[in-house]
Amino acid sequence: MKTDKSERLFTEAVEIIPGGVNSPVRAFQAVGGSPRFIDRAEKQYIYDVDGNEYIDYIGSWGPMILGHKNEQVQVAVQEAIDKGLSFGAATEIEVEMAKLICDIVPSIEMIRMVNSGTEAVMSAIRVARGYTARNKVIKFEGCYHGHADAMLVKAGSGVMTSGVPDSAGVPAGCAEDTLTAVYNNLESVEKLFVENTGEIASLIVEPIAANMGVILPQEGFLQGLREICTREGALLIFDEVITGFRLQLEGASGYFGIKPDLITYGKIIGGGMPVGAYGGRKDVMQVVSPVGAVYQAGTLSGNPVAMRAGITQLRILKDHPEIYRKINGYGERLRSGLRDLVKKYEIPCVVNGIGSLSCIFFTKEPVVDYVSAKTSDTIMFGRYFNHMLNKGHYIGPSQFEAIFLSAAHTEEDIHRFLEDAEEFFKQC
Ligand code: PMP
Repeated sequence: MKTDKSERLFTEAVEIIPGGVNSPVRAFQAVGGSPRFIDRAEKQYIYDVDGNEYIDYIGSWGPMILGHKNEQVQVAVQEAIDKGLSFGAATEIEVEMAKLICDIVPSIEMIRMVNSGTEAVMSAIRVARGYTARNKVIKFEGCYHGHADAMLVKAGSGVMTSGVPDSAGVPAGCAEDTLTAVYNNLESVEKLFVENTGEIASLIVEPIAANMGVILPQEGFLQGLREICTREGALLIFDEVITGFRLQLEGASGYFGIKPDLITYGKIIGGGMPVGAYGGRKDVMQVVSPVGAVYQAGTLSGNPVAMRAGITQLRILKDHPEIYRKINGYGERLRSGLRDLVKKYEIPCVVNGIGSLSCIFFTKEPVVDYVSAKTSDTIMFGRYFNHMLNKGHYIGPSQFEAIFLSAAHTEEDIHRFLEDAEEFFKQC
């Protein structure tokens, strides 16, 4: 595979952009080699600047759930562009977007748009603190909630990959009020509530952890969190930046039938444009300015082009439930195919996943939390990644990222993926 142009660009980039990239995982640091510079994308394919074609299993880390360049989304964006790029003022489409999400997700009574998942989480935490007049927040080891100071404590994927447990530049005071519990372990949560009675504003969780690989909540875990938070007067926040509108239309809260007090969303509601949102109980959301005392703002929030892209994508998802049947079915097929291969070649691997999210861990242990995820052989993952990349499958360049399927993927793609994975396992 010819990669001269990508390599040249990377050499130039590292001189003027930290690590050559605008978000760390893109640098391929965890898997070795030079990142591919992407030129364009179409349906399930992406193309790099050297003209190589890959089947894309990242999908911009989730939002391209319909595949790239969905015709309706593209047309809608072009129409929005014709009306102007940004007004910094109230628009009809923001009302449409809020109505659509409130209509789809039962626990959302009020919602505010922001520009990224990080902003959504940062704002939701502030709201929870403002509402409860308490300071402390519980998160889980290995869950990633964006890069706001208070959330960079035992935060998964990118941070986990580079082996930096916490970020420099985060004042101790900012992290002091962030307590960490063990995913899938209610006792660790109870303990924190006992030790900090009356002080915990909220507990934030990825209802399906997707930033330490993919880890499913065990039976009763999320329900347990709901019960503890209700009992203790803390707000339960589901971070659905990955699971929202992906696991099923109503996201993880709908899938598990649990009503969090707040939900955070990210990229998927922008259809590929930079969008995030947080919403939930009306009495809680009414603490947000200008109605309430919790300040939160954004010049480009609710940007008309981004709203049009997102609404068009969400409407397609709402009107076509068969999309979820398809991508979730392919997810099942991919996981069962990989499990068969692991068994056949006796590879110490665990395949986790649900719906259109999957992950293969190079470890013998069941992966249920951060500690078990860390037992994975990341060197082996790097070899697997590079094998798959060279065969034309573009998966996340880290052990701790998910494989994302889109409506543009085909049976043939899954078949090819398994065939090429088999070639790797055979030579292991
Ligand atoms: N929360 C979760 C669960 C995420 O996976 C991410 C990023 N993938 C974020 C928050 C942060 O979102 P963003 O990168 O848009 O700031």
